[in-house]
Amino acid sequence: MESVKALIQGQVQGLGFRPYVYRLAKSMNISGTVSNSSQGVEIVAQGSNVEAFIRVLRSKPPPLARISRFSTVVVDTPKHTDFRIVRSRRESALGVDVLPDISVCPDCRAELLDPGDRRYQYPFINCTQCGPRYTIIESLPYDRPQTTMKNFPMCTDCCREYSDPNDRRFHAQPDACAKCGPKVRLLGRKGQSIAGEAIKLAAEALGRGKILAVKSLGGFQLACDATCDSAVMLLRRRKRRPSKPLAIMCRSITTAGKLCRVSRASRELLASPAAPIVLMPKRSKPSIRLSGMIAPGNFCYGVMLPYTPLHLLLLDELRRTTGREPVLVMTSANNKDEPIVASEEELLSCLGGVFDYVLTHDRPIANRCDDSVVLGTGEAIMSRRARGYAPQPVVLDSPFHVKQAVLALGGELRNCFALANRDKVYLSPHIGDISTRHGEDFLCQTLDRYMEWTGIRPRAIACDLHPDYASTRFAERLSRTNSVPLYRVQHHYAHIVSVMAERGLRGPVLGLACDGTGFGSDGAVWGCEFLLVKSDLSWARVGHLDYLSLTEDGGVLANPSRVATGYLLQMLGRVPRGLNLGRHVAAVRARLNSGNSVASSSLGRLFDSVAGIVGICRNASFEGEAPIALEAAATYCSQAEVSREMRSWPAAVSVQNRDVLLIDPRPLIAGVVNAFLAGTNRALVAACFHQAVVAALSRALFLLVDRYRPRTVALSGGSFQNSILRRGLLHALSRCGIHAEHNQSLPVNDGGVALGQSAAVGSLQYRHRVR
Ligand SMILES: [Zn+2]
Ligand SMILES: [Zn+2]
Repeated sequence: MESVKALIQGQVQGLGFRPYVYRLAKSMNISGTVSNSSQGVEIVAQGSNVEAFIRVLRSKPPPLARISRFSTVVVDTPKHTDFRIVRSRRESALGVDVLPDISVCPDCRAELLDPGDRRYQYPFINCTQCGPRYTIIESLPYDRPQTTMKNFPMCTDCCREYSDPNDRRFHAQPDACAKCGPKVRLLGRKGQSIAGEAIKLAAEALGRGKILAVKSLGGFQLACDATCDSAVMLLRRRKRRPSKPLAIMCRSITTAGKLCRVSRASRELLASPAAPIVLMPKRSKPSIRLSGMIAPGNFCYGVMLPYTPLHLLLLDELRRTTGREPVLVMTSANNKDEPIVASEEELLSCLGGVFDYVLTHDRPIANRCDDSVVLGTGEAIMSRRARGYAPQPVVLDSPFHVKQAVLALGGELRNCFALANRDKVYLSPHIGDISTRHGEDFLCQTLDRYMEWTGIRPRAIACDLHPDYASTRFAERLSRTNSVPLYRVQHHYAHIVSVMAERGLRGPVLGLACDGTGFGSDGAVWGCEFLLVKSDLSWARVGHLDYLSLTEDGGVLANPSRVATGYLLQMLGRVPRGLNLGRHVAAVRARLNSGNSVASSSLGRLFDSVAGIVGICRNASFEGEAPIALEAAATYCSQAEVSREMRSWPAAVSVQNRDVLLIDPRPLIAGVVNAFLAGTNRALVAACFHQAVVAALSRALFLLVDRYRPRTVALSGGSFQNSILRRGLLHALSRCGIHAEHNQSLPVNDGGVALGQSAAVGSLQYRHRVR
């Protein structure tokens, strides 16, 4: 009997693909089989309608599916009398992508709140369209015995749903109910069990201003009442986190809209299956008053909606308890620079003393995964890619296909690794800082899982050019022990290639990479670089911000006051009175005189110096604090005000047009000093500085576009998280008809560097091999 055999690969398992195929086949009078294998979904189809059936499947797959390959062949098979779903088969080659975790779906939410449903208020309700995936999977194929649900045998009711192709829980691997599934418990600060209704008691504790640790999908979170100043201060003090913004969780988009201006893009993101933290501008007159210590010096709040049923129930209970619309601080439970904590033992040993209660449960976390963060100012831009996105691969256009399997180890902070082969790059979730033992363990565990799942065995390893990055040292060890060649890739070049690969941009591309620090090919600290990348991915540095000396050691966390002092001493030989920088002068001068400094073209450091000069941020407690505070200050100035003030600024930045174009930072700094000493308020100075930077960068881009005639301009680097800079530059370029692209589904900061590294090294053109 003639049949069509189809193999569908990509993100196709764990989302109700087989029942979908089953129902479609039944409705179209098709007989045959559908099954999961470690290759993907396999279908054998017979009947007069087969062609139409395949056409419908191709054009309208289930909503959560992402198909990377759909192949069909005509085969001879015995006649099938009906259509059946057949059992999973294990095979060696792997074509299946593991699904990311999916936020609770509308159907499950309705059942959760329906007193007549058998899962009424059951905190682990899920179905084929929602629930945990990546964070519970131990190995493939995706079947319950290979997940952390293996210790929860299903009751007869759940079993019936699980085996009924017409049920929306058919083969929902994490399916469970109160009778057979995971259960919540409340623990005290020493880990002792507390009897009673866990969620109710937890909500009451939050209402009393206590700190609660909550077990979420990929790790624990720390929660407290965001409207309660003393609770927020207590959390900051105990967590030793003085000023870094804290994310918040609201019950609904309506509540979020009372705190922030929610754009349409932000609304879609908040409600998306990934349900990330979305950064949105604070309202000037919010109708809910939050503590001033949630995100001080930041013009945005990071907001997420409850993405698990447990979060939903907790917020509902809190509303009942307090009679108010609840807003919770919901921040990752980790020590500074360490990975998110994923077990009760870790929580008690690493964060003992930080929380008063723990709302936990007995479904183990197989893979740690932080919350993702997306910037919702203007078009959405990824800032931290983790829960809801990882381990979904990035699929590359054919010019960027990776010809030799590569493992790329990324940068220093915000570390992500990438495992790439052919058209797919599997980026790890945000790992963070890997210079600590816990950080490195997290990297190793995740890497082992990724290698096992994807079957990719790297033939090349890529790392940063920086000799002292923990990721570089890790790559060197890996290269030695496995005898795999190591390639070093310059940081900003990797940034630009990441945009080219993600957006499918053929060379020549003129790239502008702006960020804090990256090790330059000449040993200087780079950070504002114009790079010309040809179609064979060879590159040249064609321009940069002119060097000033940094007396900081080039580390990632610079002190804005000291950077400012150093820059002013180089420009003027002194620090003008009235800038309140006197105390650093002697030490910084001594370092400059003894040559204890390093040349820097970093845009991030230029922002630091300006924040130090106007006193908006004198000491930073986290990377990016000063530029963020500067942007926040500049945000509310009107364009008219800025234009008026700019008239008295010194001549625009001089762009020296030699073989390598140089932007002189001195007039920018001078403009800031003059305006500030003349009494202009800080916010306006900050706004003018932003405008002057945009003007300088766009003028340089115009000149270079004219000279090199690239197909596209590509922007990347952490500084482009600054929306005034990003939008200002895009606007200036589009006015002149220049097409510009930047990272979108990848982080624009160092979280996307590993993709650039793997695309560069995987192209086989890359020659900077190290022996
Ligand atoms: Zn659901
Ligand atoms: Zn059950």
